[in-house]
Amino acid sequence: MSEKQHVFDTFLRQDKLPHIWCPGCGNGIVINALIRAIEKTEIDPDNVVIVSGIGCSSRANGYMNFCALHTNHGRALPYATGVKMFNPKLKVIVVTGDGDCTSIGGNHFIHACRRNIDITTVVFNNNNYGMTGGQFSPTTPLGSKTKTSVYGSIDTPFDICSLAAAAGATYVARSTVYHVNMLINQIAEGINHQGFSVVEAVCDCPTLYGRLNKKGAAPDMLLGFKENAVMKAKADTMTEEELKGKIVIGNFAKRVDRKEYTAQYDSIIESAKGGH
Ligand code: SF4
Repeated sequence: MSEKQHVFDTFLRQDKLPHIWCPGCGNGIVINALIRAIEKTEIDPDNVVIVSGIGCSSRANGYMNFCALHTNHGRALPYATGVKMFNPKLKVIVVTGDGDCTSIGGNHFIHACRRNIDITTVVFNNNNYGMTGGQFSPTTPLGSKTKTSVYGSIDTPFDICSLAAAAGATYVARSTVYHVNMLINQIAEGINHQGFSVVEAVCDCPTLYGRLNKKGAAPDMLLGFKENAVMKAKADTMTEEELKGKIVIGNFAKRVDRKEYTAQYDSIIESAKGGH
């Protein structure tokens, strides 16, 4: 990249713009954070592979100027695992939504967490299925209205970060599209981390989730993220009642005690060759 060139001129596919997203959709902010995080890590862009599933957020890698794989609904992680196993030198990043990652792809997600394979998964969590018209997803808050929960959702939502940490992911963090600098730093840390990293980006879907739940326009939703965010350290001192409606942001796991999966695989092959 020349000194005069803007990072977006280099890392956005200008020929694919304009994008398909609604005005005010948080997905654009997550792309901004991801591109700036990649730039921050100074990794060779030619070694970056971004894999996605299906959904509004999964269109993200089509707009970014890296090697990209747009796969089936919920299946980004198996494809990403194949890419990483084939060439462990690649930096493999998955972009996925709350529905794609924790419903259709939920089983793949927990198994990727337990394997500790060096893949960074960025989950765009806007609490509903945007692309298919606003149905409730596994992260829709209790009582929230969606196209398939018109009286309010009665399903207890997943906490993506707690789920990932419990399943064995070794780097887990959450931020929102209001807290962009934190999001950039978390994604960069996730990319540099040797193991499975999950960064949840809480983002707004003003067209469907926001409208049905009377959350106002996109700027109002962003202000809502600002007002309701609580840092993890503070949240740990609060009661369940006090945390109602809050978004806990920060780091949920950062472990270096587990060997990375492709390194472990190489070791077992080497020891088999040596007859041990
Ligand atoms: S439907 Fe929601 S998630 Fe999809 S592009 Fe529009 S605002 Fe974004």
